[in-house]
Formats: sequence, C-alpha cells, structure tokens
Amino acid sequence: KPEYAFIGRSNVGKSSLINMLTNRKGLAMTSSKPGKTMLINHFLINEQWYLVDLPGYGYARRGKEGREKIREIIEDYIMERDQLLNLFVLVDSRHEPQIIDLEFMEWLGENGIPFSIVFTKADKQGPVRLQQNIDAYKEKLLETWEELPPVFITSSEKKQGREELLNYIESINKSL
Ligand code: GDP
Repeated sequence: KPEYAFIGRSNVGKSSLINMLTNRKGLAMTSSKPGKTMLINHFLINEQWYLVDLPGYGYARRGKEGREKIREIIEDYIMERDQLLNLFVLVDSRHEPQIIDLEFMEWLGENGIPFSIVFTKADKQGPVRLQQNIDAYKEKLLETWEELPPVFITSSEKKQGREELLNYIESINKSL
C-alpha cells in the first residue's frame, strides 16, 4: 500500500497535524504498527494508505550522535521505500527558513524524492504576516530550486488545511 510520510523539526506541530488528519470522522485509522525502531510509526488509513510518522530531526537535546543516528534512520527509510509516494516536510509558518530544513529538502531533491511543504501553526499570526512569511520562504527556496513544490497551509488548532492535504493524497492514490 502507498505510504505518505510526515517529517519536520521537533515541536513543529507534527503530532497535532497527524491528530487533525486522523482523529475525525471520515478517516478510519485501523492499525498502528510500530516500526522496528519504534521511531517510525505506520498508521493504516481507510485500508488504503499508510500515514508514516517519521521522527523529528535536529533535536538539540539528543546530542550530536543522537541526531546523526536519527538522520540515518530517516534516510534509510526514505531510500528503501518504493511505496513512499510523497513526503510532507513540516515547517513552522512563523519561522525564517531554517538551514536544517533547506538542507534536508536539498537532499530530497538530489535523491529524487517527491515532497511538499506544510506550513504549520498558521493561526499563530495574522493573515498578512502569515502571507509575508510564506512568500519570504518561497523566495528563499527559489534561490536554489527552479520550481516550487506543492505548498499547504495548516492550523491544527483551527482545523485548517485538512481537506487540502487529504485531497492531495487521494489524488495521488487515484492516479496509481
Ligand atoms: P511535534 O513535536 O512536531 O509533534 O509538535 P506538537 O504537535 O507536539 O506541537 C508542539 C506545540 O505546538 C504544542 O504545544 C502544540 O499545542 C502547538 N501546536 C501545534 N500545532 C499548532 C497549531 O496549529 N496552532 C497552534 N496555535 N499551536 C499548535
């Protein structure tokens, strides 16, 4: 079954987003099979696809070795999975582009892994500021990318962006 993975720095709002996507009517989460490391969790959605929860990267408290280990686990998963159809890279909509995220996206590009960007916590600022931040982010990306990946704007607090994300996944599933 196809897999869609969610990843980002710790505290970016990944757990909240996954809860928003799964914990509501219309999506049946029938299984959770913890990965062999317990760091990667798979949730079967509507018997159709797996939502894959990847560990947060760049978490200072893990220390350098811990961070490298996590990075290795993430990269191994991504490189080994033929079923992985898209990776959603979460970034906090309030923050400036972070080098660790930009480098990770570079790595995805070099390895031909399809990804989208999910801006989280949209509710934490007004609409004007939000749009400015997102525009600035896109501009930064265009310094290195010829084309922008698909972009989603979400708020788990306000239940924003849920349909867009699920429709996107659905459209990829349908095209198989
Ligand atoms: P994770 O470490 O990436 O899994 O992040 P969490 O989902 O645990 O969220 C980190 C913190 O941000 C928590 O205090 C959440 O309540 C808060 N948070 C996450 N998403 C949102 C959001 O959309 N809006 C607001 N206002 N807070 C959020």
